[in-house]
Amino acid sequence: MATSVEVYPKEIGTLSEEQIAQALIKQAETDPVGVYGEIGSWDDMTADERKVFRAIGKAHVATNLPIFTHTGIPGKAALEQLDILEDAGVKPNRIVIGHLGNLVDVNVQVQRAICKRGAFIGFDRQGGPGDAQQVPMVMALIEAGFADNLMFSADISNAGQMKRNNGQGYAKTLTVFVPKLKAAGASDEVLHGIMVDNPRRFLACIPKKPRKA
Ligand SMILES: [Zn+2]
Repeated sequence: MATSVEVYPKEIGTLSEEQIAQALIKQAETDPVGVYGEIGSWDDMTADERKVFRAIGKAHVATNLPIFTHTGIPGKAALEQLDILEDAGVKPNRIVIGHLGNLVDVNVQVQRAICKRGAFIGFDRQGGPGDAQQVPMVMALIEAGFADNLMFSADISNAGQMKRNNGQGYAKTLTVFVPKLKAAGASDEVLHGIMVDNPRRFLACIPKKPRKA
C-alpha cells in the first residue's frame, strides 16, 4: 500500500492527533484487526504524516496492536518513523519498519541501527530482480546477529501479482527468496526463526480491551 499525504484520506488534514487516535482505537474494537499497517510516509515526512504516526503510537498504547510501517524508496524516513513511535510510548519490538530492502546499502547502516534499537525491519519486496541486492544485505544482518529482527513478507498489492494471473503469488517469499538465502549460506534453523518465530513473536498480542465475540 502506498501511503502519503496525497493518499491519506482528505480529512486527515483537518483531524487532530487525538481524533485520529480515537478513530484507530475504535476501529480496533469494531474490526477484527490484528495489526496497524501499513502506516506510511514518504522520505521527508510531512506534518500530517508525523501527526498520523503520533496518533498510531497513541492507538497502540491503548490497544497493544503491533505496528507495520511503509517507508518510501529508499527508506530515508525509517529512523524518524521509529523515533516518533518510540516517543509515543511504543516499544521497538512491537514495530516493523517496512520496505527496508529498498534502502540498498552494503553496510546496512540504517538497518543495523534499527535492529540495535530492538525493532524489526521489513524485507518485504523480494522475490524478483531486486533479490541480487537484498540477499547480501540480509546475510550481513544475519552475520551481525540480527536474525531475530528480520521480517519477510511479499507486499502483494495488485491482482496481477497473484498466481492465477501468472504472477509470483503470495508464496514468493518462501518459494523464491528463502531458497536464495539458503544458497547464500543461511541455515535452516535461522530461516525457520525468521519465517516462523519472528512473525509469531511480533503478532502475539493481548488486546487491552477484550474483543467482542
Ligand atoms: Zn508499502
